[in-house]
Amino acid sequence: MRDEQVIAAISTPFGQGGIAVIRLSGRGSAQVVDRVFRGRSPLSSSPPWTMRHGHLVDPRGNPIDEVLAVHFKAPKSYTGEDSAEVHCHGGPLVAQMCLEALISAGARLAERGEFTRRAVINRRMDLSAASAVMALVSGQSPKAVEAAMGSLSGATRRAMEELMRDLTRACSHLEATLDMPEDEIPPLDWERLREDLSRIARGIRDLHQRGLAGMALSQGVQVTLVGRPNVGKSSLLNSLSRQARAIVTPIPGTTRDVVEAAVIHRGVPIKLLDTAGIRDSNDPIEALGVKLARETMLTADLRVLVLDGSSPPHREDLELLGSLDMPAAAALNKADLGTDPSWDQVLRDARVPNVTLSALSGKGVEELKDLMVRSICSNPAVDGAVTMFRHQLDALSRAAEALDGALSSPYLDATAQLALEAQRHLASALGLDPTEEVLEAVFRNFCVGK
Ligand code: GDP
Ligand code: ZN
Repeated sequence: MRDEQVIAAISTPFGQGGIAVIRLSGRGSAQVVDRVFRGRSPLSSSPPWTMRHGHLVDPRGNPIDEVLAVHFKAPKSYTGEDSAEVHCHGGPLVAQMCLEALISAGARLAERGEFTRRAVINRRMDLSAASAVMALVSGQSPKAVEAAMGSLSGATRRAMEELMRDLTRACSHLEATLDMPEDEIPPLDWERLREDLSRIARGIRDLHQRGLAGMALSQGVQVTLVGRPNVGKSSLLNSLSRQARAIVTPIPGTTRDVVEAAVIHRGVPIKLLDTAGIRDSNDPIEALGVKLARETMLTADLRVLVLDGSSPPHREDLELLGSLDMPAAAALNKADLGTDPSWDQVLRDARVPNVTLSALSGKGVEELKDLMVRSICSNPAVDGAVTMFRHQLDALSRAAEALDGALSSPYLDATAQLALEAQRHLASALGLDPTEEVLEAVFRNFCVGK
């Protein structure tokens, strides 16, 4: 049975504002409000989707605030359940007192993301749309908001449903062939089936790419600056983010832990990390910074190797260039002091995209930002980016893997098995009948009131 207990939470941000909205959901929401609402007529006997004016009172009947209240009839509400809203004045104390009155009237405080969770369970909203709600609430950049709108409108769900329909058709074709007595087996059109399965696999991969792009857009792309001490990493970070964040000194080994800065460039949020100069050190604190630098380097979406272009390449520069994890780029810094001619050949041999710049004068810094965005967004999926939960991305990637297996198996029954497995993963990505675990994982990061 569905948990229909009436839940309540303040849905507007904490702090002072013109109004605060307390949201309630579950059968009997309007009746709960009525126990502490004093208006011309009870809310539950007023027409739904219409604002009513009145006062909210505490359990002893003392007025707390003048409010507007509205109730919604299932299924035409955010959660798909009977629900209600109380709009009170936006002081944090008043809103809290109104919420407490509603709780004493029989509502339970909602858990994180519980409204959206109920919307998903009631199929009022699909998982991609729920992820869009989160992205919109925490939206960090215009492109991330754009990606969220695609999912909120149901476009992501429709794309998944279409793949699901095709896959289901292919699966039933395979199963029917397996179920038939041998002498009645109609000739299975293998070529046609293989084409269908590969087309579906491509579709799933494409959606996965777009989901990854959406994730990068909403979380921001991580870029680490690496390089020998004193090449200008901290100066470059400051220049990139146009704020003095990192400590810049002429003494090598100043940056001992990771310094972060965020910039939005062409609608894409970039999270920049300045790491300690990579070199062996006897100073334990600096050594710790170096270890951290190595770790951040591994997890970054892009590594930018900063080089001092004004002097000839060092042995360490060449080592770093040779051992860079991809994707990576090089920033040939200190161009204001002139560029040593030997860099040209070195960078050509290394085959990493590079920009000549000066952190000091700012020349070339915008080009580096362009390069960062391009190297991450070279993936054409960025334009079709959509938001999804990590769970959905994983499920899509498993579905594509299962289909690869189905396509490469020489045995019909193995193909059928794997195609069915792909179908299960796709259903999971769609959020059809989500398990408690999935719901838990998905809504853990929501805030109360969403
Ligand atoms: P890090 O150790 O790699 O973080 O290097 P810093 O950012 O601390 O810079 C080391 C030294 O190089 C400082 O004295 C900076 O002022 C200087 N520096 C950094 N970038 C430039 C640049 O583009 N041009 C010039 N002339 N000096 C720079
Ligand atoms: Zn530094």
